[in-house]
Formats: sequence, structure tokens, C-alpha cells
Amino acid sequence: MKRCPNCSRTYDAAGWDCPSCGFAPTLWKGFPVLAPDLARAATGFRPEAYAELAPIEADNFWFRARNRLIMWTMRRHFPQIGRYLEIGCGTGYVLAGVAKTYPETRITGTEIFCEGLPYAACRVPRAELLQMDARALPYEAEFDVIGAFDVLEHTRKTNWCWRRCCTP
Ligand SMILES: [Zn+2]
Repeated sequence: MKRCPNCSRTYDAAGWDCPSCGFAPTLWKGFPVLAPDLARAATGFRPEAYAELAPIEADNFWFRARNRLIMWTMRRHFPQIGRYLEIGCGTGYVLAGVAKTYPETRITGTEIFCEGLPYAACRVPRAELLQMDARALPYEAEFDVIGAFDVLEHTRKTNWCWRRCCTP
């Protein structure tokens, strides 16, 4: 189920047009952009670096070893996954590992920076990809497993409660 980033109502639909308030995300190269202001304002990472990262990840010891560990851990704890969400998918290197490990799984990848999404789309053509604010998931009870790798340390501290149980 999706949660509208504008009015917070939930709905089931293939697209991102909210049936309650009419919110419709802008598109960037065909990818839904749910938090465009955040994409422009975010700091701490150069989105241009995706072009440098994408060609070297598959031959780099760090990315290869990290993927092996992530896939080992996922297989051990989640033998089957119906729907998977990755927050901060970057160029889709981990997402590709998940897609290979779980060929039947419906995969969604998200990024704060749009620039990583075209690389992720090349690596995992079947993935649904979008730009969003990781602190305000536009979903409700949608996924069996959610991954975020090298993400939390880049997330700015806020008063926002991810469980939606308290209001700042
Ligand atoms: Zn809405």
C-alpha cells in the first residue's frame, strides 16, 4: 500500500497519483520524484560520484565482499522474500545482488539523489525505482524486507519518528 507524501492517506494503485488529494510526483528521466526539495538540498555526497562508482563497483573488494555478506545474511534469515525495498540503492549494485539471489522477488529501490537511479535501472530492469525521503516512507505494510546499506550514517538526525508513534 502506498502512503501519499502530501496528505499521508494510504491507497492501492500502480502509479503515484494520490486519489485523495491529487498529488502527483514530478518525473526525472521517467523516475517518480517524491521529495524534490530534499534531492536538491541534500549534502554530504556528490551525486556526480555515481558515474565514477558504477564502473568500478563490480571489481572492487569492498563492494564485492559487502554484497557477499549481505546476500549470505539475507539468505540465512529470509529464504524467501515476496517484496523487497532498498533505501539508498545508489547505482543498484546491492539491488542487483538481491535480484540475482531472489529472482522471483518484486524489488523496489529508492534514492535521495535521482542521479543513481538510471544506473540502478540498467542493473535491475525489473525494479521499481524512485526518489524519496527515507525519513518519510511513502509505503504502509508493503514489504517483507527492507534494506539500507551505508545509509543510516548519512541520515540527518531529526525529530521525525519512523514508527509514526510520536509527533515532534
Ligand atoms: Zn494525497
